This record gives sequence, structure tokens and C-alpha cells, in this order.
Amino acid sequence: MTERTRFAPSPTGELHIGGVRTALYTFLHARHNDGVFIVRLEDTDQARTVEGSDVRILQTLREFGLDPDEGMCLDETGEALTQKGDFGPYRQSERLAIYKKHAETLLASGHLYQCFCTSERLAELKQKQQQEKTQLGYDGLCKTLSAEEARAKTAEPHVLRFAMPESGDIVLPDLVRGDVVFDAAQVGDFVCVKSDGFPTYHFASVVDDHEMQITTVIRGVEWTSSSPKHLALYDAFGWQPPRFAHLPVLLNPDKTKLSKRQGDVDGIAFIQKGYLPEAIINFIALLGWNPGENEEVYSLEQLIEKFDITKAQKAGAVFNTEKLDWLNRHYFAKYSPEQQKELLMPHFERNGLVAPDQSDEWWEAVVQLEQERIAKFSDVGEESGFLFREISPNPQEVVWKKSSAEETQAVLAKLISFLQMHESWKKEDLETEIKEWITQEGLGNGDVLWPMRVALSGKAKSPDPFTLAEIHQKEKTIRFLQAAHDTLA
Ligand code: GLU
Repeated sequence: MTERTRFAPSPTGELHIGGVRTALYTFLHARHNDGVFIVRLEDTDQARTVEGSDVRILQTLREFGLDPDEGMCLDETGEALTQKGDFGPYRQSERLAIYKKHAETLLASGHLYQCFCTSERLAELKQKQQQEKTQLGYDGLCKTLSAEEARAKTAEPHVLRFAMPESGDIVLPDLVRGDVVFDAAQVGDFVCVKSDGFPTYHFASVVDDHEMQITTVIRGVEWTSSSPKHLALYDAFGWQPPRFAHLPVLLNPDKTKLSKRQGDVDGIAFIQKGYLPEAIINFIALLGWNPGENEEVYSLEQLIEKFDITKAQKAGAVFNTEKLDWLNRHYFAKYSPEQQKELLMPHFERNGLVAPDQSDEWWEAVVQLEQERIAKFSDVGEESGFLFREISPNPQEVVWKKSSAEETQAVLAKLISFLQMHESWKKEDLETEIKEWITQEGLGNGDVLWPMRVALSGKAKSPDPFTLAEIHQKEKTIRFLQAAHDTLA
């Protein structure tokens, strides 16, 4: 039987990075098993639906290379949605007739009953249960209505509730957690169809997973507690349930749940900050699963080859941004200088760093400088920002700690005369010849190289002076050395 998996987001906002991980595992499971990856939109909670977020969710998936095989897909413009496949519609609000039909079946078999309780009564009931510290949940009042009583009230607003078995265990054979056992009596009669005729998540999810022939449901751990409801529904319908895998929660390093408070955790925000999609994919693939090897770097192809959902871990997975930074650097280093420049360019511009007249070599050197240290592209300029401006160093910083302002000024004057005659501006040549000159002059390295470096960077901490001189080239190098010399006057 073909494996069929689904990712079923609710279009209530941007796709959280945890949602991207669920989508990725669902996708990897499908690909590894030559199966089908489906996207279904769960928009039955109309009040929470955010306009446009359905398109943005699919666009985010595309950014990560997770386009679905079936279900809701981006159309050829990439700006709107279309549906693909034989099991549609794939948007729940377009499937109301299907839910209605199935609700009627369960109503007829007595698994669903009409409940006329008002929200006031339910609120009172809850308050009483809380005060008396008794079990929360619906008390079954309307289940006791006779058929005639229910029929007489049927025009009044009502919901359809599922009559949960009153006792017994419900066992969820979870692919990640093993058997999870629930006490049916603790679950309570839950709503399947709301008074506006819309199904609840539980009912729609079960009907759709069955109708769409889903074989494996992969979702976040927070849905585990919904599973007994779902299993009871499968049982009532007489349907074979799919296999379930509940993924571990994502945690901050302090072990609290990863949430917006810790910064932007929308999947797309990571791309906007300048993490490469392949670095993010590699990183989140290993948040809660690993192939049991001592490896950190996996391409999507390797992940597909190795993925085994049963090897996912139960314990929460810590979202360690340092590892993501490391992976990003790793993947970035694989690009050609030309591609690196292209990747960084929008971020340079966003950070106000523009240099329209500079040569390709200059850009290459700047990118090289960034490449060694950059974690995410939005930080671009932290290393090289000074190269985009005129440099005016602080006179105190120009002076080497074992020297004086007068001595430093004299050294800079000599260095300028020496460099004016110098031809090659390659950093290796500069290094050899300046160092030879220092020896000939009987100077110390610090006396010359410190002020030179500060003059060419304006900073106490910076790359070495030869790299800087090569980036600036002759005319600017001399100009900046002269400016540093003059500040000491
Ligand atoms: N619509 C649910 C969500 O937003 C899906 C849960 C499930 O996969 O069953 O996450």
C-alpha cells in the first residue's frame, strides 16, 4: 500500500518553525517510503482564520523545498492556491457536505447525540466542577434526552456530541512513544459538529484522514491528548485508523517551550534573517530525530535516504541557535564567491552598506572577510561595515601601548613614504616586504603593525593590516594612513 502522509496546518497565521519541522518529517517519511506528501488546510475554526495565511504557509513550505505532491498547492503564479489530487477538496471549509453525511451516519448509529446546552450552562458546569474539584467535562445531560424530546427541540441551536465509551482503556500505538494508554472515562463527550454546522477539528480530522486514505499521521506532541477522541471516532465508524507519530516539543535552551517571547519563531523569519534553507532543514531535521551516527551535516537527499520516524526521540528537543549558526556558516562556505556576494547583497543593502563603485575584487575580499565569521546574513556588516565608510580612528587607539603619540606619528610618516614606492598590493607581498622593512629600520612589529591596522580599520579589533591594505588598495591605504598620522598632530 502506498504511504500517504499529510501536513494539516490551520491558516491562523505564519507557519511556526515547529510547523516546518512537522512538515519536514511528514515529507521525509513520504519520500523515504516512495509515498505521497499531502497538504490539507484545516480552517474549520473560521474565527481564527487569518486571511492570506493559507498562501503564506504554502509559500513558506516552498522556500524550504517542501512543495506537496497532492492537496493544496501554489498555482503557477506562486501567489495563489490551487488543488491537486483525487481526494479533494483539500480545504476543510469546502468539505461541509462530506462531514454532514458522516455526522448523520453516527447520529443514526447513536454515537452522536444532539446537545442543547447553552454556553451559560456549560460555563456554570465548569465552574462547579472546578470548585468541587471533580472531573471536568460535559456531564452528559443531553444524552439522557429521549428521541421525542430531542426531536421537539431540534430547531433550537445545538451541537452534536460524541458519546464516549464510559469505561475501558483506549490504546494509542504511537510510532514514537510506544503504546500510550488513556482511560476512556476521562475523555468526556466532545463536540463533533458545532451549532453553525461546522465540524470541530477532531471530527474533520478523522473524516479527512480516512477519506484521503492517510496511512501515517505525523504531528506535534500537543495532539497526543486528542488521539483517544480520534481513535474512538474510528471505532464508531468501523474504520481502520492510520498510524500515529507524535513529535517531541521544541524547547529553548532553558527548557521552556519555544515561543514567540524568545524572538521570531516563524519559519519564514529564519530565511529573512539570512539562514540558508538547507541549513535550516539540516538543523530542524535533527531536532528530535537522528540517524544514530556521529554526523551533523545532512543534505535533503541524505535525510530522505536515512529517515525513519520510529527513531524520533520522545524527549523535548532543544533549539540551539549556535548549531544553526554553525551549519549556516558551513553551507555558506560551499558557495562560490560570486554566489556568496549575491546571497549577501540584499542584506548589505538592508543594513545601509552600499558601495556602487567598488570592483569585483573588493567585493570578493569583503565577502571573504564576512564568510569567516558570519552566522546569519542579517548580521552582515558587523565584520566589514567599516570598509564602506571613510575611516577616522580615535587618536588614542592608534598609538601602540608600548609607544608614544610622537613615535607613532614618526613611524606612520616613514611607513607612508615606504609604501608610496611600493608596487604590489597583494597581501602576501605587502606582508613580506613590510616585515623586512621593519627589521631594516630596527623597529618592533607592534610599533608599525598596530597603528597601521587601526588606521586602516578604525577599530581596536579587526583583520590584520595586510588584508586591510589589500582590500583598500594603494590610494585609500595611503589616505587612511595619512589621516591617522594627522590625528596625532
Ligand atoms: N490543524 C492542526 C494544526 O494546526 C493539525 C493537527 C493534526 O495534524 O492533526 O496543527
